[in-house]
Amino acid sequence: MTSTDGADPKFYAEGLRFECQGSGKCCTSRGAYGYVYLTTDDRKRFAKFFGLTVARFQREHCETTDGHVHLKNPEADCAFLRGKRCSVYEARPAQCRSWPFWPENLNARAWNRDVKSFCPGVGKGKLHSPEEIEKIMRSKS
Ligand code: SF4
Repeated sequence: MTSTDGADPKFYAEGLRFECQGSGKCCTSRGAYGYVYLTTDDRKRFAKFFGLTVARFQREHCETTDGHVHLKNPEADCAFLRGKRCSVYEARPAQCRSWPFWPENLNARAWNRDVKSFCPGVGKGKLHSPEEIEKIMRSKS
């Protein structure tokens, strides 16, 4: 499921600055962004982290919507959020590792409406080159 749908290479041609400020905001629920989808590798990493079989991890922590596996209760804040911190940081899914460089975010409209207005890390720290952005974007799926 590798997709760059929604990404506009012209939008990030000069690179984009981002550095996580530890706000925890990307782990709180807000509509479609409340879904934390899990790849097969994510599920294996989580299962190892918790000392469970993949099947048991999936039974206890996951739901499936339209054929896509995600963490339970997407309408609530992530169950692994403790205060502003991720309690499963080493095992966090590709979706969390690659924020905010998701294909659907990488156009001016979505970036300004859904990312910049919301995430305090945007515009801060390291300037990510287009090549770095595309590498991170592809790691999401
Ligand atoms: S797994 Fe961790 S980084 Fe990902 S949404 Fe949950 S608390 Fe946030």
